[in-house]
Formats: sequence, C-alpha cells, structure tokens
Amino acid sequence: MSDNDKIKVTILPTGTMHADLTWLLIDPSRMATQQQPGKQRDWVEVPTHVVYIEHPNGQKLMWDAGVPRDWETRWAPSGLGQFFPVDAATEDDWLDSRLKQLRIEPNDIDYLVLSHLHLDHAANAKFWEKADTTIIVDEAEKAGAFSFDGHSKGAHIKSDYDTLELDTIAEDTELLPGVTLLRTPGHTWGTMSLQVDLADSGTMIFASDSLYLKESYGPPPIAAGIVYDTVAWFNSVDKIRAIQERTDATVIFGHDANQIRELRTGPGNYYT
Ligand SMILES: [Zn+2]
Repeated sequence: MSDNDKIKVTILPTGTMHADLTWLLIDPSRMATQQQPGKQRDWVEVPTHVVYIEHPNGQKLMWDAGVPRDWETRWAPSGLGQFFPVDAATEDDWLDSRLKQLRIEPNDIDYLVLSHLHLDHAANAKFWEKADTTIIVDEAEKAGAFSFDGHSKGAHIKSDYDTLELDTIAEDTELLPGVTLLRTPGHTWGTMSLQVDLADSGTMIFASDSLYLKESYGPPPIAAGIVYDTVAWFNSVDKIRAIQERTDATVIFGHDANQIRELRTGPGNYYT
C-alpha cells in the first residue's frame, strides 16, 4: 500500500500569537493570592495551525483557516489585537503562503471545515468566497454567529464569515471515510473537533479550541478564560477522552506551543 492509497494529514503552523495564559487556562496555582497580590502574569506563545487532508478518494479537506495578515487593522475595532497580537508569524506561516507551498488554490479544496468561527480560526475563510468548496460549520455555531448585531461579539468578527455560504452539521458526521467531524461544544456555541483514522499513525483527534493545551485536557481538565458554556465544555472533554481511550488516539491541542514543536509539521511532512 503506497502513501497515495492512505489518508495524508499535513499540519501547517499558520502564525503565532502571544496572550496572557489566563485566557487559556484558569489555573489557581498561577493566580494572585492574599500573600502575592501582585503576582506576575504569564505572557505565552499561542501558536495557530490548520490541517490539510488529502484523501485517497481524491478529495481534499482543510481544517480551519488561521489568522489574518492584516490582524492589526481587522482586530482593532474589537480591541482583541491588544490581547492576542499575532506578533510571531513568519512570511512562510500565513495561510496564503501555505497554499502556495502546497501548490494549491482555494478552489482545489473540496471541504473547508471551520472548527468554530473565532477570529483566529475563520479569519481567512473568505479566501474561499468564490470557490466551489463546501464550507462546513456546526449548526449551533452558525446560529450563534449570526445572532448578534454589529461588528463583533467576543472573538466572533462577523465580517470574517458573513457573506459565505455555510453548510452545517447537526450530529457527528463521517464526512469522508476515516474523517469524522465531532460536535464538541462549550468553547463556543458549536465548536467541533476532527477525528482522522490513519493507516500508519492511528487515530488523531484535532481538538481545536475544545482543548487549548495539554494542561486543559488533564486529567483533570482545566477550563479556559473564554468558555461559552462551561458544563458543555466539560462534557465535550469527556467525549473526546472516551474516543481517545477507545481508539488510542493522539489528541492535537488547539494552541499548544510545546506540542506543535514536537509534531511533524509543514508541507511534505505529513502523517499517514
Ligand atoms: Zn483559537
């Protein structure tokens, strides 16, 4: 069986932000106390990635769409550029650079699946505005993302997605053989995770922001500073853990600087 008969998964770093760790991890051990009221904040690397999947049936899937080159202007009205500056992205990292490195155009992608519509995941979705690509989000995410008036709500910036035709899923969905979208809400209205069953590497679960970091997963799980629905979030972690234990999967966290360094990443460095 050659690699071309197998699902290929390429993890592509798409630019690193920095942020206060408190956004990612509500960790009591790092919080100010009566003894140490002025405790130092942790300003940490927050890498982003997308996942490019080539299926042996010929179809191609992109998971998430990274951060935008023009984050400073686009994120200014929401104020979030101050909290999450994309100040550690190289020219090779931006999603348009990644597509060029892969020698593909947006239109070559059959499915663009957005784990959720936050500004660091959906920002470049409009690359696909004129493409024939099917764009998929969770139905609860779509409903929430159009439920408010004005420019943005939290980290949802409407102009990232407002003119796109968004298809939806309403249950866990095997989109391609061995490629399954999992409903894992909590971080937002309808955050999804992606399960890929690989011939050589076993199962990989891309948790996106359902699990920011290894520490988020635990056990015990540690919630984050941005959680839409905390009870749903804990239930989703249980769901991921049940699948992970059943399949002996590798869980890929949404923004884990240590893990992304250990993974095989970049064009040509794929998992099968
Ligand atoms: Zn994120």
